[in-house]
Amino acid sequence: MIKSYLLAPGPTPVPERVSLAMARPIIHHRTPQFSATFADAEAGLKELFQTSQDVLILAASGTGAMESSITNLYSAGDQILAINGGKFGERWGKIGAAYGLQVHELKVEWGKAVDPQDVRKMLDQHPGIRGVFVQASETSTAVLHPVREIAAITRERDVLLTVDGITAVGVCDIPMDKWGIDVLITGSQKALMLPPGLAFIALSARAWERTKKATLPRFYFNLAKERENIAKDTTAWTPAITLIIGLREALSMMREEGWANVFTRHALLAEATRAAAAALGLPLVAPTAPSPALTAIYTPPHVNGSKLVAYLRDRMHVTFAGGQDQLKGKIVRIAHLGHIGAFDTLTAISAFELALHHFGHDVVLGRGVSAAEGVLTAALPE
Ligand SMILES: *Cc1c(COP(=O)(O)O)cnc(C)c1O
Repeated sequence: MIKSYLLAPGPTPVPERVSLAMARPIIHHRTPQFSATFADAEAGLKELFQTSQDVLILAASGTGAMESSITNLYSAGDQILAINGGKFGERWGKIGAAYGLQVHELKVEWGKAVDPQDVRKMLDQHPGIRGVFVQASETSTAVLHPVREIAAITRERDVLLTVDGITAVGVCDIPMDKWGIDVLITGSQKALMLPPGLAFIALSARAWERTKKATLPRFYFNLAKERENIAKDTTAWTPAITLIIGLREALSMMREEGWANVFTRHALLAEATRAAAAALGLPLVAPTAPSPALTAIYTPPHVNGSKLVAYLRDRMHVTFAGGQDQLKGKIVRIAHLGHIGAFDTLTAISAFELALHHFGHDVVLGRGVSAAEGVLTAALPE
C-alpha cells in the first residue's frame, strides 16, 4: 500500500468531512434547499474575510477573481501599480496589460517583502495611479507583504488596494474592513481545504462605487450582477453546487476550530519548519518576512531541488512544490495551509531529511525533526 501526503501550497488536502458532504447527490440550485446552504456559506465567508460586505463566489480558479478585480474596477488606459516580488505579483502586471491598463511595476527582490515607503513614493511620483495590487502572501517566494501598512497609505487617497489573499485568507489575520482593504480575493484550493474551482472576492464601499465608472468589458465575471444575486442567496450563473456544499462544511470546520486557533496553528507549523531548516543549516528564501502559509527552503548547492522534489513525490509519495523561474531547481516549498497538522509537518521534515540523505547530502538524520518538535512542545495541549 502506498500512502500519499500532499504538502504543496495548493491544491491542499481535502478533509474527509468535506469530501463526504460533496459526495451527496447533486441538488438543483434554484431551490430553497440550495439557497439555505448558500446563505450559510455566505455568512461563513464574511467571518473569514472579516467584512460586512458581500463575499462573491465565482466558479473559477483564483486567477478568475484576480481578472475580475481589474475588469470591474478599471477603464482602458487607467494607471495601476503592481507590486511584483514573485510569480503571482508578476501576474497582476500581465492581467493589467492584457486589458490595456498602464501598468507601473514596483519590482521587489525575490524573497523580500515590499517596503511600504516605496509604495508611497511611487504614488507620489505618479499621482494618476488609481489602484495598487499586491499579494498578501507571495506563494512563489513564501514572503508575507505588509498589507496593513500599504492599506494605511492607499486609504488616504483615491487609490484602491486590491489584495490577492489566496494563500493568506484563512491562514493569518487579514481583517478586510478594519485595515481598509478595497478588494480581497481568495480561492478554494488553499486554506479553504476544497478542490480547485471556486474563487472569492469582496469589495469595499468605495470599490463598489468605482465599479459604476469602470468601462472595461465584462460579462461572465460581472460583480455587480453577482451582488444582486447574492441578495437572493444565489449566484448569477449556475454555481459550482458541489463545491459550495463542501465550502459550507469547510467553513464550519474552521469556525469550530476557532479563527484565532486556525491562525495560531499555521504560525506554529511555519515556525517549526523554519526551526528545522535552521537546524539543517539550510537558508530560507524569505528569512525576514516569512509567510505562515508555506516555507521555502534552499536545497544544498550540490542537490538539485527539482530532482529532490520529484524523488519525494514519485518515490516517497510526499508532494512538495519546487521553485519557479530563477528559483527553479534551487528550493523546496513546504505548505502549512489548509487541513494540515503537526504530524503532517513532522512527516514533511522527516521526508525532506531522508531525501537529502538519498541525494548524498551529509545530513544528521532527525536533527530537523528534533528542532521542529522543540517548537511544537511549547504548544502542547494541557
Ligand atoms: C494559488 C495562487 C493563485 C491562484 O492561482 P489559480 O491557479 O488561478 O488558482 C493566485 N495567487 C496566489 C498568491 C496563489 O498562491
